[in-house]
Amino acid sequence: MRILLKGGRVVSSAGVLAADVLIEGETVAAVGKDLDNPGGEIVDCSGKLLFPGFIDAHTHFDLEVAGTVTADDFATGSRAALRGGTTMVVDFSAPDKGDTLRCGLERWRRKAGGRSLCDYGFHMTIDDWNEGISREIGEMAAEGITSFKMYMIYPAMMIGEAEIYQALKRLKEVGGIAGVHCENSGIIGALIEEAKAAGRMGPGSHPRTRPNPLEAEAVSHLLRIAQMADTPVIIVHLSTREALEEVRAARRRGQTVYVETCPHYLLLEDSVYDNPDYLEAAKFVCAPPIRKKADQEALWEALRRGEIQTVSTDHCSFTLQQKMAGRKDFTKIPGGLPGVEDRGVLLYTAGVAQGRITLGDMCRVLAENPAKLYGCWPRKGVIAPGSDADIVVYDPKADTVLRAADHIQNVDYNPYEGFRTAGSIAQVYLRGRLAVDGGRVLLREGDGAFIHRHGNML
Ligand code: MN
Repeated sequence: MRILLKGGRVVSSAGVLAADVLIEGETVAAVGKDLDNPGGEIVDCSGKLLFPGFIDAHTHFDLEVAGTVTADDFATGSRAALRGGTTMVVDFSAPDKGDTLRCGLERWRRKAGGRSLCDYGFHMTIDDWNEGISREIGEMAAEGITSFKMYMIYPAMMIGEAEIYQALKRLKEVGGIAGVHCENSGIIGALIEEAKAAGRMGPGSHPRTRPNPLEAEAVSHLLRIAQMADTPVIIVHLSTREALEEVRAARRRGQTVYVETCPHYLLLEDSVYDNPDYLEAAKFVCAPPIRKKADQEALWEALRRGEIQTVSTDHCSFTLQQKMAGRKDFTKIPGGLPGVEDRGVLLYTAGVAQGRITLGDMCRVLAENPAKLYGCWPRKGVIAPGSDADIVVYDPKADTVLRAADHIQNVDYNPYEGFRTAGSIAQVYLRGRLAVDGGRVLLREGDGAFIHRHGNML
């Protein structure tokens, strides 16, 4: 079956090109001027932008954490992702401490297999270190799981500096790469004790116990370990100006560092935690916390300068009922925000429409760079002959307002409630199939495929 997307403007990292796109089966057959599709379907895309399907390389679907499980599983989460133009997610699979990586992988295959509506891959969490895990890292890479995650915080998952060093060296041997959650665990623990001792038990204590220098310290710490291991590394969900400075310092001395940030660090301010209504504040609890205006501006500037490679959501949704768990103790608030459905329109509206970044930048951080960094380029991340026909048709004129009442993420609030967008997503194609049309998701559970990934190409 052939479908011709006619009269649109095709976005790539190089910019925008007026061109038609011919889809044949699951892939793009041609991109060019005045293409024809005799007897076949022709879709009028005049006035529309055509982006490669967005890749969200940081989601947590069906994750057991904080004594509960995330509100979105692979079915609801991937359905919302697709509706927001995200045709592929990379979710974090994790074994329990003491288990094998294989154990974690099988668990995530069960969660996603036959359920995901969009394409997907897994990062593998390294939350322990021994010979078996070292060997398994090679097996994971052979199975298309080439990216890994390590935590410098959270007792259930964190590992020490020697283990991080050894894991990084082993990843280098197999062509893998790690993303690391960087916050200083020890001092945050001490600040939490101080807050509790002073009786400051509300959500306002959450950002105050995780201040900027404690992200920067952990980033610096990690980057020195990576320097010793002589490996590139990814800082996931970087949120502060100070941490950016640490990244710049490492790059100046010749290290390769990749940086991910998230829409909530680009769009929201820490005053959200000052709301006297418990839930109004608790619903924004995530780690690292929402930061200040100055951090936002530093992140936008870094995006514009190409110092940040990817924007992912860290989608980790909990309902307001689940957020109630911390009403007497802020450390018991399940941490995480929804966002998988809104990333594209948020970045277009606050970034492109506001003149902070170009369409090429948006394409780079939402599609091209994640495809390259996580080893599925050029199958994903670009509209070009031979690539998967994952295409987002964006209508820059169809403004809308984000509301929990209208979203399909399985969560009863939206952190961007009332946000007026510049344009919205008209259609989404996944491997040549019309997946979303005018906000209606047309695919079914199981239509998404596991994507076997290779090494970093960025
Ligand atoms: Mn995360």
